[in-house]
Amino acid sequence: MSEFAFELSLCAHLEATTDHLVARQLGGGVAAPGKRVLDTVLVEPGPPFAERAAITPETIPAAAIESEAGPGRFRDRRSVIDGPPRYARRVVERAVEAGFFERERRDGREHVRQVARYPDDWFGRLVGIENKPDLGRPGALATQLRKDVSLGLLDEVVLATESHVTGAHLNRLPEEVGIWRFDPDAADSDGVSDPVEVVREPTPLAPESTGIELLERHAGRAEVEPAGPAAKATARRRIAERAYGKGWRTYDAPACKHASMTSSAGCGGLPHCSWYDRFVDAASECGPDCPGYEAADAPAADFDVDRAETSPWVADPTGKQRRQSGLDRFG
Ligand code: SF4
Repeated sequence: MSEFAFELSLCAHLEATTDHLVARQLGGGVAAPGKRVLDTVLVEPGPPFAERAAITPETIPAAAIESEAGPGRFRDRRSVIDGPPRYARRVVERAVEAGFFERERRDGREHVRQVARYPDDWFGRLVGIENKPDLGRPGALATQLRKDVSLGLLDEVVLATESHVTGAHLNRLPEEVGIWRFDPDAADSDGVSDPVEVVREPTPLAPESTGIELLERHAGRAEVEPAGPAAKATARRRIAERAYGKGWRTYDAPACKHASMTSSAGCGGLPHCSWYDRFVDAASECGPDCPGYEAADAPAADFDVDRAETSPWVADPTGKQRRQSGLDRFG
């Protein structure tokens, strides 16, 4: 099974069987977030989750959350966002678009405030899942997992595989990493058999302590950066925000006669190919280079509807009266 198909089956299973947010392909570093892309992230809702969900279905820009703008009085943009005016304007623009800021003009100057207090503790534990269906082709798996354990940004790290896990595999992987054997066929069946066999429970990591981030490895030396608790807390909130806005259905519907949108484990919005009889990634697998390709309109898909149906994410929060006053004057 392809990693993509495996990953989608697992995401669908997790979304169907937990109350967590499930997201794919998120940066998992602190000093260099883009250097480590996490396959799948589970975000456990915290007590004020509903307050966060009521603000916006999108990712709230980090710079807006980290600004001095509060939910009370309108404040001059220049006093709440550091940086050059063009940057500050862009932050405001994105925050207004996301529904997190409202603004008005006073004395010829743009003033902003949050539409609601941002609940910092809206999420609880973060679990990172590395998907490697075939352990016979591990690539840099052990190194990546060692980096995750050393940094300790997430609460737990798990490896998910379809392979039989041997003692040799267990010895090669950091002992803190949990191991799940996941059977996508069982996940898609009637739900009688559990598709996840827990081979090893993860050991909780320590996001509240300083970790070490491996940035580069050169011949004979490694470039590392300590990541303290405050920087990790900020990075965790950014991951949770990205997960909230992004989810895991981050692909296009293939424009091919053999494609259809289907469901797995009760979750909709998965791109199936009847030629290969599996889920396919339109961006990397579909097109004239594929032997089965027959051009057609992409099947209809509404990922927001699919996501809202089976996850705690709220597509269209109501009850939040947004006052985007004077928008036309800032266009
Ligand atoms: S292009 Fe190929 S992989 Fe994509 S849906 Fe068509 S037959 Fe399947």
